[in-house]
Amino acid sequence: MSENTRVPMAAGNWKMNLGRDSARKLVDELRNLSYSLESVQILVAPPALLLPLVADWVSGSRVMVAAQNMHWEARGAFTGELSASMVREAGATHVILGHSERRHVFGESDDWIRRKVGAALAADLVPILCVGEKLEEREAGRTLDVVGRQLSIALDGVGADDGAKIVVAYEPVWAIGTGKTATPADAREVHAFVRRSLAETWDGETAGRAHILYGGSVKPSNIAGLIAEPDIDGTLVGGASLTAEQFVPIVKSSMKR
Ligand code: PEP
Repeated sequence: MSENTRVPMAAGNWKMNLGRDSARKLVDELRNLSYSLESVQILVAPPALLLPLVADWVSGSRVMVAAQNMHWEARGAFTGELSASMVREAGATHVILGHSERRHVFGESDDWIRRKVGAALAADLVPILCVGEKLEEREAGRTLDVVGRQLSIALDGVGADDGAKIVVAYEPVWAIGTGKTATPADAREVHAFVRRSLAETWDGETAGRAHILYGGSVKPSNIAGLIAEPDIDGTLVGGASLTAEQFVPIVKSSMKR
């Protein structure tokens, strides 16, 4: 596997939170931080209605913007949905796909997520592909089976050129929004497995260029142990990404030593 050239990423998934004023305040702080912290990629995923505004506020800085979801079709009768080109036009460069809330609250299937990954790449959006097991799956010893299945279906048809751009976020469902975090050792096992799976899908060099983030109750108090793991290339953060008080220390601690 090639030398690690991955610049760590701190990504904030705001979910259905923050209005225009609170978003502006947070983005201004991240924007300022980005000028002095070149060794971390900062990304925010605001609610869709705020995408063009946030993209405008961060322009000229190193803060990047992601959508939280999108549809795979280019246009049509899909009430409430957004296409990849709409997301791109709104100023996003990335899109979160297959988040556990999309999978388990809104019933998205592996096959839908596969179509979304293809549509995102075709529109020049970087997919942040979320994978992760439920508590009962972990307790049944099925974590790697579940993550392996989610990866192989979602990445079916994706070539090595696109593979290097992909961001995978390992987010154990039992750790999301629960305050329970995977231990660095738990995360290490799954991240190493994801890296191996990507190498089997493409090749070692491509797998070595893809980012694998950890997500699930990341906080300023637990980021250091996670980021110290060689295969953890950053974090996808929900609750603690909503205020500068919590997110700024996470971003600062995301540098690899
Ligand atoms: C998430 O929603 O992707 C997430 C990891 O949430 P939290 O940090 O709140 O657990």
